[in-house]
Amino acid sequence: MKVRLDHIGIAIGAADEATAWYRDRLGLQVTHVEQVESQQVRAHFLPAGGAMLELLEATAPSSPIARFLEKRGPGLHHVALAVDDIHSAMAELRAAGVRLIDDAPRPGAEGALVAFLHPSAAGGVLVELKQPAVGVGAGRSQTVPLFKTPGRLPLGDLELVTLCDGFFALDGGAMFGTVPRTLWERSLPPDDRHRIPLSMRPLVIRTDAATVLVDAGCGDKMDAKSAAIYGLDRRYHLDHSLADAGLSVEDIDIVVASHLHFDHIGGFTGRRADGQLVPRFPRARYVAHRGEWHDATHPHERNRASYLPENFQPLMDAGVLTLVDDEAEIVPGVRYRRSGGHTAHHQVLTITSQARTAVFTADMYPTTVHIPDPWVMGYDLYPVDTLTFKRAFAREAIEREYVLFFEHDASMAAGILRESGGKRSVERVL
Ligand SMILES: [Zn+2]
Ligand SMILES: [Zn+2]
Repeated sequence: MKVRLDHIGIAIGAADEATAWYRDRLGLQVTHVEQVESQQVRAHFLPAGGAMLELLEATAPSSPIARFLEKRGPGLHHVALAVDDIHSAMAELRAAGVRLIDDAPRPGAEGALVAFLHPSAAGGVLVELKQPAVGVGAGRSQTVPLFKTPGRLPLGDLELVTLCDGFFALDGGAMFGTVPRTLWERSLPPDDRHRIPLSMRPLVIRTDAATVLVDAGCGDKMDAKSAAIYGLDRRYHLDHSLADAGLSVEDIDIVVASHLHFDHIGGFTGRRADGQLVPRFPRARYVAHRGEWHDATHPHERNRASYLPENFQPLMDAGVLTLVDDEAEIVPGVRYRRSGGHTAHHQVLTITSQARTAVFTADMYPTTVHIPDPWVMGYDLYPVDTLTFKRAFAREAIEREYVLFFEHDASMAAGILRESGGKRSVERVL
C-alpha cells in the first residue's frame, strides 16, 4: 500500500476566529468551504504545501465534532491519507488484523471514497483513508477531483440542473494571465504538460413554460489532434449527463449561448451519418448575442482558433438561430447580462425566481480559483473590462448571496461567494 498525506482534520469552535488565526498567524487561506450534511460538519479547507488543513466546525449539537469538542476541546482530530485503491487498502489492513471503523468505504467530500481506522489500532490517531475521485494531475501530491454527476437545485419556481460534457485541459499560465504559477498551482496543480483540468458544465433551467439549456460543451466534432492538445476526456458526456438527469435532446426548447467559443457551443451542432452538420437539439430555438455573432463571423488572428463556424453557421442556415441584444430576456426570469472582457459581448445569465438569484458565470469566473478580481485569464481579449465587471459583480454577489455556477471548475459546479475579514471563499452548493 502506498499512502500520501492528504489532509489533517482539526476540530474548531468558532470558525471566524479559527480561520482568522490561521490567516493572520500562519498566512494560510481558506480556499473552499464544504457542508457535509451526513456528518453535521462544515469543513474549511486551507492548502498548506502539498496537503491541506481541514478545519472542522460542528453544525449541530449531535455532530461528532461537537461531541469531540465537549470531551477534548479544539485540536487535532484526524489524519487523512490518500490511497489509490481504498478497497484493497482496507482488505490489506483487515488481513493484518487492523481494526476498522467502517466495514465498507463511504462517500466523502468531492466524490472521494473514505473509511476510518480505529484509533486503538493506529497508535491513538484517528486515521482516514481516502481514495480521491479520479482526477487530472494524478501522480502529484494533490489531485483535482472531477465532479460529473448532474446536480439539481430548486430556485424559487425554477429547477436548475447542472450537467457535464466531460473535461479538458488548458495551459495553466494562459488560464491565469499575469498571476504567477506559484500562486495558483496549489489550488490547481498542472499536469506534466503544464495544463490544468477544466470541466464543461452546461446548465439546464426548467420553468413551467420551457426547458432551457445554457451552453452545451464542446460536443463530439473535435478531431483527434486537437483532442490530444486539449486533453479532451468525454468518456462521460452531455448525452450521459442528460440521461442521468432524466432528459434527452428532444426535451430542450431553447438553447442559449454565453458566447460562441468552441468549448461552450461545440455541442450545439452534430454531424449526421452523411456528413451534414445539423442542430443537435431538434426541437430547440437557439439564442446568441448579436455582437458576439458579428465577432465570431469576423474573426481575427487572436480569436480565430476559438470561433469554429461548424458550431454556429449550421444553426443560421437551418433558420433556428435568433440574435438578441444586451439584457435580452430568454424566458421570464432568465436574462442575458453583458460582462464583456473575455470577449466584447460575453454574457453571463442571471436567473431569478421568488427573490432568489443564480448566475451562470461562464468564462467570467471560469473556476472558483478565479474569484480574486485581478485573477483574469490570459485568453481574455479585454482584461481590464473583466476586472471592472468582476469588481462590481463580486460585491453584489456577496451582498445578495447569489448562487454562482462555475462552468469550467472541475470539482465544484455551484457555490455562494462569502467574505469574512476581507477574505473571500466559496461555499459549495453543488
Ligand atoms: Zn470563452
Ligand atoms: Zn470557456
